[in-house]
Amino acid sequence: MMFQACRHEHGSGFIEFRVDSLTGMRARICPERLKRGIGVRDIPDYSPEGCPFCKELVTRVTPVFPDGTRLEIGESITFPNLYPFASYHIVTVITRDHMVRSFTRDQIKDAFMAQARTMEDQPGYVSINWNFLPSAGASLPHPHLQGLVDPVPGTLPMKYISGSQDYFLQHGRSWWLDLCRSEAASERFLDGLNLFWYAHPVPVGEKEIRCVLPGVTVSDFKDSVGSFANDLVRVLDFYQDIGHGAWNLSVFFGQDTEREYFSAFAILIARINPNPLSTSDTAFMERLHLEPVVLTLPEDIGRLWRNNSRS
Ligand SMILES: [Zn+2]
Repeated sequence: MMFQACRHEHGSGFIEFRVDSLTGMRARICPERLKRGIGVRDIPDYSPEGCPFCKELVTRVTPVFPDGTRLEIGESITFPNLYPFASYHIVTVITRDHMVRSFTRDQIKDAFMAQARTMEDQPGYVSINWNFLPSAGASLPHPHLQGLVDPVPGTLPMKYISGSQDYFLQHGRSWWLDLCRSEAASERFLDGLNLFWYAHPVPVGEKEIRCVLPGVTVSDFKDSVGSFANDLVRVLDFYQDIGHGAWNLSVFFGQDTEREYFSAFAILIARINPNPLSTSDTAFMERLHLEPVVLTLPEDIGRLWRNNSRS
């Protein structure tokens, strides 16, 4: 069993309590709460005035690497983060355009490749991250990725690394292979993509979609970045089609020594669109109980994907 579920029926619907067997992480799924109708359809236009990532300023005001350069691949431009919160912290501006609704495969591929190349020789645990739009935590609306390298993984990837090591010791096989086998046969599988994408049964966020990557390290990722970019463009267009223009994405990588039991993976969650009242989609359950209240059943994400004409 990859997860346990328990449904509580109440007067106007149900709450589904779920626990991830590997990590012990919990989520509550409450579709009726969607009817509160918080959030707006339209995304405001953000002025490019004074934006340090627009082309007039990006090569003048952003930091450079110790050799005095920034890395340019396609439209993307990569440099150290001016305000780091990791041992090694870089930024990749994805596009020349300040506001983008639909990304191209090349924009995504070039930006992720730039992150991989810049971080692959750094010792430690690597992740590639994306907050898109201020309502998802971005301090600048201009699309950009952030790459982090630290001596220890973050709290969530740590649960998966140590959980899958324990699983390997106990069962003699990779938890990730068992996960893919069971999810491929579920309603949560997103078919028709190059890599393995599915809606995780115990999500950490709204309309969460995960990708299990073929490799382990960030160097391995360079071989699949083209396939990943093709898929991500389609998944992000799917988010737009179902009303979400803002998101968070993290891709977590392991080390060479973890090859036997770990797989790199990505988590994508939809965030509330920017709104005039700054209404948040994150409250005491997520911030203090560390147990998300999610509105959409992962099985319904699979259904939405299959019914969406563009996917
Ligand atoms: Zn800009």
